Amino acid sequence: MIAKYVDFHCHLDLYPDPEVAIAEADAAGVYTLTVTTTPRAWPRNLALTRRTKHVRAALGFHPQLVAEHRDELATWEKYLPETRYVGEIGLDAQPRFCPSLELQKRVLARILTCCAEAGNKILTVHSIRSAKAVLDLIETHLPPDRGKVVLHWFTGSKAETARAVELGCFFSVNARMLGNHRGRELVVDLPGLRLLTETDGPFTEVSGRPSRPADVAATVQQLAKLRRASVKETAIEIQQTLQQLLASVPPETERSQLGSQPP
Ligand code: MN
Repeated sequence: MIAKYVDFHCHLDLYPDPEVAIAEADAAGVYTLTVTTTPRAWPRNLALTRRTKHVRAALGFHPQLVAEHRDELATWEKYLPETRYVGEIGLDAQPRFCPSLELQKRVLARILTCCAEAGNKILTVHSIRSAKAVLDLIETHLPPDRGKVVLHWFTGSKAETARAVELGCFFSVNARMLGNHRGRELVVDLPGLRLLTETDGPFTEVSGRPSRPADVAATVQQLAKLRRASVKETAIEIQQTLQQLLASVPPETERSQLGSQPP
């Protein structure tokens, strides 16, 4: 069954009651990618999403946590065969994370290399103040036919956006991004079938409470206005983009996520 809406980047394991948040997203028909921030959190996230219709878990290693959790890269590699979704990964060059930037780059290069070797992974990638470095690493380590990249909350320049499009990247945008000029410009300039929605909940808020996947409905309305299309057309285009993205990685990998565990 096709989902009605898409939240391609959300942290449902960080909500006070992840089971409820997951059930809610599933019932609302929101195709939700719930990302993991440390490799150690993966088994629980996989277990939480084992029987969901629309919610999938991604195996991540958040750039802001790489320094503290550097010994978990081997754990990340061990779990990779269990999923077709990878994230949250990427680089963060905000001043407080700059000390670990070289380590972040080594970890991201390794993750991209593993994904390229495995093939058929879909990655949700963070690139705060580091769009160029992230695109350089993607270009070097992940050929477009070896995996698909969704740039989450992308704030690169126009030229960097064009380069990301050229590299075959998709973009997931949230309501907060559309509150500033650069974010609005990004969604207007993107070619067709590259745009997805996200909430990045619980790190964004809607009327003073953490965003939940169903809140993407409001983002679709904003996008429709900006792209001068109807809400229905916009929702359909996002569904089609998701379909195309998922179709580009074979479903065999997906079944392994739902398949049985060894006894
Ligand atoms: Mn995030």
